[in-house]
Amino acid sequence: MLPAHSHLGFAIALTQVIVERSAIAMNSTLRSRLQSLGLGLAAAVCGAALRFALSWILGPIAPGVAFVPFVIAAAWWGGVGAGTIATTAGLGLAWFFFGLAASQNGFFAEAARVFLLLLAGWGISWLTHSLRQAKLRAEQERRHAATILASVTDGLIGLNSEFRLAYLNAAAENLLKRACGDPLGEPLRSKLRPAMQGRVKLSFEFRDQKSNQWLEVHAYPDDLGGLSVLLRDIAERKQSEQAMAEANRALERSNAELQQFAYVAAHDLREPLRNLMSHSELIVERHGDALGEEGRELMNTAVQGARRMHALIDDLLIYCQAVGKDDRRYGAVDCDAVLSFLRGNFSPMLAECGGKMSWGQLPGLYASESQVIQVFQNLIGNALKYRSDKPPLVQISASVRADEWVFAIQDNGIGIASQHQEEIFGLFRRLHGRDIPGTGLGLAICKRIVEHYGGRIWVESEEGVGSTFYFSFPESRVAEPVSS
Ligand code: ADP
Repeated sequence: MLPAHSHLGFAIALTQVIVERSAIAMNSTLRSRLQSLGLGLAAAVCGAALRFALSWILGPIAPGVAFVPFVIAAAWWGGVGAGTIATTAGLGLAWFFFGLAASQNGFFAEAARVFLLLLAGWGISWLTHSLRQAKLRAEQERRHAATILASVTDGLIGLNSEFRLAYLNAAAENLLKRACGDPLGEPLRSKLRPAMQGRVKLSFEFRDQKSNQWLEVHAYPDDLGGLSVLLRDIAERKQSEQAMAEANRALERSNAELQQFAYVAAHDLREPLRNLMSHSELIVERHGDALGEEGRELMNTAVQGARRMHALIDDLLIYCQAVGKDDRRYGAVDCDAVLSFLRGNFSPMLAECGGKMSWGQLPGLYASESQVIQVFQNLIGNALKYRSDKPPLVQISASVRADEWVFAIQDNGIGIASQHQEEIFGLFRRLHGRDIPGTGLGLAICKRIVEHYGGRIWVESEEGVGSTFYFSFPESRVAEPVSS
């Protein structure tokens, strides 16, 4: 006699052959119903065969549960329908061959028993089917998650509560092979330990000494007491950061060299220029008569040119030294005291043109005092120099805007046309020609100093009305005025 599962297998195969070879065009619902019917009947036949085999060994007391494994098998592969058919057909076969339980209880008691057995069969089928569906769903979800994790280009690692590797995707395997030589070497482990022990999120950049590989690591504690770790290859970013830092250093070096060159050139030009000026002046003084009118005029023009050149060299030296040399002399600068000092310096000029200079409450600055003086001096000097026919009025104020303090130097001078309002901050940019003395470096010096402190400088102006020069200082460099 063939074993029970061979019967079942044979019955399944036979049903499938019949269904597949059938000339009748069946839709999928009909096909699956026929499959359930075949499976159910085959399971019932197998159950009856097992019951026969058992009664041959055990005699008439052989248990009816011989049908149960086949009902489960039919429900597992064929669903609730197949399980119910297996139960019903099994009961029919049991009744036909074994008189069910040779009951003497009468019709109703027998009917109730049959009903309960049917119900139990249906329940077992439903449970089995639900279990199978849950298993299939879990498997599908696991496959889906595995596909997603495998396709992620960042490395993902799962560490269990004992700090052992529980999961790593293909990208992590690749990265760690390159980074540590073995999956999760000790240097990386020791960096992850604080996240594991403190149950805190941790992010850091990690460089493997041996392979010189750079990784960005983010560790997240999970609910199971372990860690989820994300790894990202940042070799390219690191390379470009290093290249950028190198380029910056080279630029700084070349800037410093250029500045040094400009400073030395300007400094060394001063002496011969001073000689030239004093000797020209001496010639005019001592031999003026011999030179005649025309000769004296030519000499005077030469002296004026030399003076202009001297002023230019002086400003160039100030520009070169505007930032850097005083950087270690930062301290609290009292703007009120600075302006009082400058009013003293400008007093001859103010008296000459009948000008006035006033200011309100100003904050203190944390900076180099000489640099702050330089900025105010250039801007106030310009406000007086580029005055109109009216006596000049210079007003200085300060106000806080967003995260910076903005200083304003307002005048009622000749003003600046809008198309020139940006260019005047460039080197040697002059708008008002030769009638007003200047080198075109004053505003460039201001810009250099202000930007050195992280601020900005700009102008708002209307020709014939006046100009307001603004410069800002970041709030971190400003001590607010104490209102008295
Ligand atoms: P300089 O005053 O030595 O010429 P600056 O760099 O200080 O050089 O100024 C550049 C130019 O901007 C000046 O030549 C002048 O034309 C213009 N300028 C600067 N300040 C004012 C002002 N307050 N009013 C009108 N024009 C100004």
